[in-house]
Amino acid sequence: MYNRQERRIKYGKLIEGLWDCPFCDNKRIKAGQKTCPLCGHPQDENTKFYMPDAIEYVSEEKAAKISRNPDWQCSFCGSLNSDDLNICKNCGATKEDSERNYFEIRKQEEEKKRKKEEKKETHQKNTAKSAPKKKEKKKKSLMKRALLFLGIFAVIIFGMMSCLAPKVKNVTIDDFDWERTIDIEEIITHSESDWQLPDDARLQYTKNEIKSYEQVIDHYEKVTETKTRRVIDHYEDEVSHVDLGNGYFEEKTKSVPVYKDETYTETTDKPVYRQEPVYATKYYYEIDRWTVVDTAKNSGRDQNPAWPEPKLKDNQRTGTKDEHYFVTATYEKKEGKTETERYEMDFSEWKKLKKGEKTDLKIDAAGFAEINKE
Ligand SMILES: [Zn+2]
Ligand SMILES: [Zn+2]
Repeated sequence: MYNRQERRIKYGKLIEGLWDCPFCDNKRIKAGQKTCPLCGHPQDENTKFYMPDAIEYVSEEKAAKISRNPDWQCSFCGSLNSDDLNICKNCGATKEDSERNYFEIRKQEEEKKRKKEEKKETHQKNTAKSAPKKKEKKKKSLMKRALLFLGIFAVIIFGMMSCLAPKVKNVTIDDFDWERTIDIEEIITHSESDWQLPDDARLQYTKNEIKSYEQVIDHYEKVTETKTRRVIDHYEDEVSHVDLGNGYFEEKTKSVPVYKDETYTETTDKPVYRQEPVYATKYYYEIDRWTVVDTAKNSGRDQNPAWPEPKLKDNQRTGTKDEHYFVTATYEKKEGKTETERYEMDFSEWKKLKKGEKTDLKIDAAGFAEINKE
């Protein structure tokens, strides 16, 4: 499709640019003047065309004769020449020997400038390295705080560990005591219920009961939401001036869209859920189990433990056996101050100890003692 806009881009109006003479410092020379009117210096690689403050269009008649191609630089004398000249007007060298045009020169010059600035910047950075000391200080204080925190944490952990770690105490054995128990079990009938019937149970009855709940869609509800979207409101002309590289600027007009936010509503069907009970058969049954009904206990304050001998009824049996052996011992807590404590021990070690004997006991956090062998 042939469009008006493109036509305008192709045939933009021309504006004559300006340049500054690098040799004599003459400024705002009209670009059509290829040599400085004051010193005669020609346009060269230092020439950069720029737009005048007030826009004045070149007549259509004149514009038709002006080439839209960039100037070429004479490789011999360095001056800029119009595209339509085949011989340098300054020295007579041919266009074929030319190596760069205006844009290529500008690109190389910009690159040079950029590199120079980079060098300057790194130099500045190197000399200003002492400046960010404050930041470093801050970092250091943060580190200090972190270390302090870690230190406190370590002390706490160490403290907890040493509390839990077994302690060795030099004690004098004062006394012994012990306790032995045997559970007495009897078959008892229990009434229970479950979702399954155990093999050895006697079923009483069943009942349909709620076992769990399931989420199901009850119905759908229309939900209307207000949303926004970006749409094109209208087009605006955007005018720009393009450097042709021959001293002239071409005016280009581009149509650009201007956007706005538009609100609209959207209606969707959203499901509404409900909790639906799930029923299952529950079994109510009786079951016989060996159950602890009593505990026979024997205890003494000597080193001769004996198991209790419970009198069992016909429907009874003995269950779990349990035994505990203790020593009461005295140790020096501080200078001249003694403390007496009771510790549990294993039968084999407990049996070996003698009243009045001095020994090292290793005692753990739960108060259980072992004879220290280290
Ligand atoms: Zn000059
Ligand atoms: Zn030349």
